[in-house]
Amino acid sequence: MNCIFCKIVNGEIPSSKVYEDDKILAFDDINPCAPVHVVIIPKEHTITCADDITEDNCHIVGYIFSKIPEIAKAKGLTNGYRIVNNCGEDGAQTIFHIHFHLLGGEKLTEKLC
Ligand code: 5GP
Ligand code: ZN
Repeated sequence: MNCIFCKIVNGEIPSSKVYEDDKILAFDDINPCAPVHVVIIPKEHTITCADDITEDNCHIVGYIFSKIPEIAKAKGLTNGYRIVNNCGEDGAQTIFHIHFHLLGGEKLTEKLC
C-alpha cells in the first residue's frame, strides 16, 4: 500500500517520534500549523477516515484519545490544545490513514467552530 503514514510506521520514511507503543505512533508534523503539531495514528491501516469508524473498530480511536494527555504533556502543552480530524474531500483530508492532529503551544485563534 502506498501510504505515507504506513511508511512512517515501518521506518521507510523517517519521522520525529513523540510517542510509540505497539498500537499507535505520534510524530511531529512535517508542515506544522502551530508551535506544537503532532500527528497521532494507529499503526494498523484499517480505518481510512472518521467516516469508516464503526462499533467494531472504534476501540483504537478511544485508545488514541486515552494517550493524548500523555503526548500533550510530553510536548509541554500545559495550557490546553486542540485536536483536529480532517475527514474526506470536504474535510480536506490528504492522507487516508486515520489520524488526529494535536495542536498547541500558543493561543489558537483560527476557530472554525
Ligand atoms: P490531513 O491533511 O490528511 O489531515 O493531514 C496530513 C498531515 O500529514 C499534514 O498535516 C501533513 O503536513 C502531514 N504529512 C504529510 N507527509 C508527511 C511526512 O512525510 N512526514 C510527516 N511528519 N508529516 C507528513
Ligand atoms: Zn497507512
